[in-house]
Amino acid sequence: MNTEATLKKMTLREKAELVSGYALWFIKGVDRLNVPSIMMSDGPSGLRKQDDPTKVEESVKAVNFPASALTACSFDEDKLYKLGENLGSAARKEDVNILLGPGVNIKRTPLNGRNFEYFSEDPLLAGKLGSAYVKGVQSQGVGVSLKHFAGNNRELTRFTSTSNIDDRALREVYLKPFEYVVKNANPTTIMCSYNALNGVLNSQNKTLLTDILREEWGYKGVVMSDWGATDDHIEALKAGLNLEMPGKGELSVTEVVDAVLNDRLEESILDNSVYRILELIDKCKFAEKNNHEVKSLTEQHEFACDLAANSMVLLKNDHDVLPIRSNDNILVVGELAINPHYQGGGSSHVNLYSLITPLDGIKDHHGMVGFSKGYEENGKNNQQLIKDAVNEAKNYSKVVIFAGTTNSSESEGFDRENISLPDYQNELICKLAEANENIVVVLQNGSVVEMPWISKVAGVLETYLAGEAVGEATWSVLSGAVNPSGKLSETFPISLKDTSAYGTFGTSKVEENYHESIFVGYKYFDIKDKKVLFPFGYGLSYTKFAYSDISLTDLGGELQVKFVLKNIGACAGSEVPQIYISNLTSDFEMPKKVLAGFTKVYLNSGESKEVVINIKKAEFTYFNPIKQSWCFDNGEYLIQLGESSREMHFCEKIKLEWNTDPVALINRDSYLDDVIENEKLFSLFKQSKLYAGLYQPVKDNNDATLKMMRYTPLRSVLMLGSYKTSSVVDEFVNDANALGKC
Ligand code: BGC
Repeated sequence: MNTEATLKKMTLREKAELVSGYALWFIKGVDRLNVPSIMMSDGPSGLRKQDDPTKVEESVKAVNFPASALTACSFDEDKLYKLGENLGSAARKEDVNILLGPGVNIKRTPLNGRNFEYFSEDPLLAGKLGSAYVKGVQSQGVGVSLKHFAGNNRELTRFTSTSNIDDRALREVYLKPFEYVVKNANPTTIMCSYNALNGVLNSQNKTLLTDILREEWGYKGVVMSDWGATDDHIEALKAGLNLEMPGKGELSVTEVVDAVLNDRLEESILDNSVYRILELIDKCKFAEKNNHEVKSLTEQHEFACDLAANSMVLLKNDHDVLPIRSNDNILVVGELAINPHYQGGGSSHVNLYSLITPLDGIKDHHGMVGFSKGYEENGKNNQQLIKDAVNEAKNYSKVVIFAGTTNSSESEGFDRENISLPDYQNELICKLAEANENIVVVLQNGSVVEMPWISKVAGVLETYLAGEAVGEATWSVLSGAVNPSGKLSETFPISLKDTSAYGTFGTSKVEENYHESIFVGYKYFDIKDKKVLFPFGYGLSYTKFAYSDISLTDLGGELQVKFVLKNIGACAGSEVPQIYISNLTSDFEMPKKVLAGFTKVYLNSGESKEVVINIKKAEFTYFNPIKQSWCFDNGEYLIQLGESSREMHFCEKIKLEWNTDPVALINRDSYLDDVIENEKLFSLFKQSKLYAGLYQPVKDNNDATLKMMRYTPLRSVLMLGSYKTSSVVDEFVNDANALGKC
């Protein structure tokens, strides 16, 4: 399509129609000019195409892939790319042009009801996995909608509440995954979230939608609203929103037409949005069906199983209770084994293709299996069911209990009230542990849970919301057919009370204040020196890995970390080496460590490989709120290589001097202390006019007295002497900075 020419031929009404959604899931197109209508559908873990827009609960049959809470634990960009390919191919087959996902919001607190749909508490991990997913979908000629932009970290009053976030936290934590995906994967569309940011509704937030997204990051795609997120459509268009979804029908069209006719909206602003939407349609239309491979539902299901199994996290495995051996007779306990919790509620809910329950997944492959219900979700008869299970447990060599949350406790639209498992499940686990020492808990949950029984059980496998292949995937990990390699993409606290937003989260309908600033997730637990149940990045394997020959090389603007990884255990498996950096130099507050790189390495038993991870300068920068820009400090950094955020195999300091621009050593606000502490500066100071003008008694003071004045800024030294001009301060500052670069 010649976008420019098409735009010129469009009437005002046609333009207004294009910037307003249509029939819940469509952009209308312009028949007269052969601009086709295009369709969008949820969702992030499986296609939720609705043929009849009035039947909101019904959608086509589609494979339900694991939720992002689980896929993130794969730490595997290749797998996320493949997930994107599968989803893109499924969308294409159903003539869906834009898939509404992925969500890359940060898990600020485990109470967010929608955490299952998001990747991580860490922005780099969320950004990298989100990018791989987007590239995969877009490789199929299908568009995405990166959501929910931004600061949407709770569901309570999500249409109106304001997320009050300081500049550093906003840039370094909450915007960073979006920035990463925009710059690395160029998503076709971005969905702005419902909430306000620092008091301004996101759909009308010019700072967010234009200044940052367009001007700073150079984004060229379409920004659409979340469903019903706009208040004033015209103000939204002016702020940089291109498409109001799902639109208000004729009302949306007439308000735009009237705004142009009444000079409330310049037509050039409308044209700008129309141009972007025409380009989007051109990119995503399927008029020329090219030969993209269409994956069958069975192939997609197999991939869903592979992805789930390779993402599950083995949290505990005392006396090698897992994997289950062929001669183990096992008792399976729990309603979730026959009625699993495998997908989240709300817009990511999929009408699935095929489900094998965990109990069937086990029975299909293992001979000696008993089952006891243990509890019912509705809570009825639970005391009797617990008794029955405990009696049974004595007759088996191992007990595998399925525990977890329910759809009614975690969903889009509302937040969690707590992070505990139901009382009857905790009671059941404790009682079973008294009856049998080989208890394995398999967890199905969208976000973290407390485990008051952790010391009593031998094994814990975290499967999150594993998608429709939950049964086969769980069995393959329990049996060892797949060696677990998932690592936690969020910290598991001992108790909700330990988390950073505890006490204030969700206490106001109007506002959510991000008091902890940049200290989110492991950065919070680290800075407060708190014990955790399981740290970020943690996960066990059935084999063991050894790290050796580690070296750091400064490549100038990039740091290369090289090491040898060896599988020293008896079976093949994958490990996720993680690099964390700490800025030891900055004048600003810094997290104790920040994830700066990771990779996933598969090794046969006895095999070793040289691994190279390059860390770009961007990972060493922080957002300077005074200069309103990203800054790098020349100076010392601590580089750590580990298998989780709390188990390091290597720590070394390195001095990096990548700033080539002269950086001021001091300024008028610098304290005398900065001068006294630096030998060169102190000697220059003693020769300066600033020093010469000091009252004699001040000069006569010995250095010890001078030190009392350490916390006087240079500009205020003027009060300690007699000067003809205040320019002596700037003169000294300039001479000092001419000494060199820091
Ligand atoms: C959700 C979005 C979703 C949209 C369309 C909204 O309520 O927040 O994530 O894509 O509905 O279903």
